[in-house]
Amino acid sequence: MRELHHFIDGKTVTGTSGRFSDIYNPNTGEVQGKVVLATDAEVDTAVQSALKAQPEWAAMNPQRRARVMFKFKTLLEENMQELAELLSSEHGKVVADSVGDVQRGLEVIEFACGIPHLLKGEYTEGAGPGIDVYSMRQPLGVCAGITPFNFPAMIPMWMFGVSIACGNTFILKPSEKDPSVPLRLAELFMEAGAPEGVLNVVQGDKSSVDAILTHKDIKAVSFVGSSDIAHYVYSTGTAHGKRVQAMGGAKNHGIIMPDADMDQVVKDIVGAAFGSAGERCMALPVAVPVGKKTADEFVERMLAEAQSLKVGVSTDKEAHYGPVVSAAHRAKVEDYIQMGVDEGADLLLDGRGHSLQGHENGFFIGPSLFDNVKPEMKAYQEEIFGPVLQVVRAESLEEAAALPSQHQYGNGVALFTRNGLAAREFASKVNVGMVGINVPIPVPVSYHSFSGWKRSAFGDHNQYGMDGVRFYTKVKTVTQRWPDGDIADQSFIIPTMQ
Ligand code: NAD
Repeated sequence: MRELHHFIDGKTVTGTSGRFSDIYNPNTGEVQGKVVLATDAEVDTAVQSALKAQPEWAAMNPQRRARVMFKFKTLLEENMQELAELLSSEHGKVVADSVGDVQRGLEVIEFACGIPHLLKGEYTEGAGPGIDVYSMRQPLGVCAGITPFNFPAMIPMWMFGVSIACGNTFILKPSEKDPSVPLRLAELFMEAGAPEGVLNVVQGDKSSVDAILTHKDIKAVSFVGSSDIAHYVYSTGTAHGKRVQAMGGAKNHGIIMPDADMDQVVKDIVGAAFGSAGERCMALPVAVPVGKKTADEFVERMLAEAQSLKVGVSTDKEAHYGPVVSAAHRAKVEDYIQMGVDEGADLLLDGRGHSLQGHENGFFIGPSLFDNVKPEMKAYQEEIFGPVLQVVRAESLEEAAALPSQHQYGNGVALFTRNGLAAREFASKVNVGMVGINVPIPVPVSYHSFSGWKRSAFGDHNQYGMDGVRFYTKVKTVTQRWPDGDIADQSFIIPTMQ
C-alpha cells in the first residue's frame, strides 16, 4: 500500500511515529494509501530546516525570489492535469473542478510574482528639518500553515505563496485526508528553484498542530478549517505569542429579489449549492427568495434542476459533482438531513442512500432540497457542508438581509437583483465579509483578499492579496537625519512637530 511521508529540507523524510491515517478513494470507498502522522521531534526537524534556510532566503533580493514564483507557476501549468487527477482521486471532486482548485492557487502565485513591488515601503522626505522617514516590510521568520481537506491545492498556495515570497520559510501541515497534492506542490516548488528548507511539509493531525502552535521558533500560523478548531488554533497560537489568522466554517445565503433574472439565478445557485458536493466554504447552501411568487417559482425550478443533476465518479466528464470525502462525512450530512425533517422543514428532494451503480461503496450523496426552513432550526444554524440546499422564505429584503447578518457565520453572501440602489445599500450594510451582487460564489480575486466575519474567521488579517503581505511581514520605520555639524540643544521634552 502507498505510504506518504514528510518533505523536509528538500527531501522525503520517513515518519517514525508508527501512527498513520487512512487515505480513501471516495469514489470506491477503498483505502488507497496511508499517511504518516508526525512526532513532535519531526515537526521540530522541519522547523530547524526552515530556520536554517530563512536568513539566506530573506537576503535574496525580491526579484530573485519572484523568479522562483514565475518558474513555479509554469510548472503548475505544465502539471495541471496530473495535479487535478491526483486531487480528485483523494478528495472526490470532479477533475474539472480540481483544475479550478489548482488554478485559484496558481493565481495567488501570480500575485506573489509581483513581490518586489508589493514589499516597497513608504518614504517621507523632510518630515522635520533634515529628517526623512521611511518604512520597510521585513519577513517574520518561520511561518506555518494548517489546511483543510476541501481545497488541497488552492489553500496551501494562498499561504505559502505569499509567505515565502515575502522572505519567510514555511511549514505546511496539510489535511491528512488528501495529502498527496500538497506534497507534490512542495516537490514542484523545489524544482522551481527554491532552496532546501524553504518549504517543508509535515503530515499530521491534532498532535502536530499542537506542536506547531507551541513551537517557540514559529512566528505566525495561518489556519483554514472548521470554526471550533479555528478558534482553538487562534487562542492557543496567540497565547504562545504568534500571529494567527484562522478561517472557519460558513453558511452562505443567496437572496433572490423579485426583479432578479430567474433563469440566471437557478443556474447560478444550483452550481453554487451542489458543486463539489457542497464541500466549499463559499458554497451557497441557503437560498432566500423574497415574496411568495418568487419563492414558489424558485422552488419549482430548483427542484427540477436539482433532480436532473448527475452525481458520478470524479473522472466522469458528465458528472456535476462527485462523492463527499469520507463515509463519516456522508453520515454527518445525512444526519443533518434527518434533523431538518425532524425540525419540520419540507424535504422536497432527499439525496440520502444514493447508490451509484458499479460504485456502491463510494461516498455518494444525491442532491437534497428543503423548503420552509426556519431560522430557529438547528439544521439551518449549523454548517452541513454537503449537497443540501435549504430555502428560507422572506417577505422583504430587510427580513432576508437580517438572516445572513445575524447568522453565527459570515463568510459569503449573494444578492440577486436588477436594482443597483438596493444592491449598493445591501453590500454596505450586510454583516458578512464577502459579498456577491449577482455573483453566487464571491471568492475575491488574488489581488484582493479573502476572509469571512464573525465565527468564519478569527484574527485580523485576510488571506492573500495585500493583507496576506501584511500578515507575513512586520513593518520597520526608520527616522533619519544627517547632522550638518551644528550641535542641537539637549532636550528632555519629547520631540513634536509644533
Ligand atoms: P477541520 O477543521 O476538520 O481540519 C482542518 C485542519 O485542522 C486539518 O489540517 C486537520 O488535520 C486539523 N485538525 C483536525 N482536528 C484538529 C484538532 N482537534 N485540533 C487541531 N487541529 C485539528 O476541517 P476540514 O474538515 O478539513 O475542512 C472543512 C472545514 O473547513 C469546513 O468547516 C469549511 O467551511 C472550512 N473551510 C473554511 C474556509 C475559509 O476560508 N473560511 C475555506 C475552506 C474550508
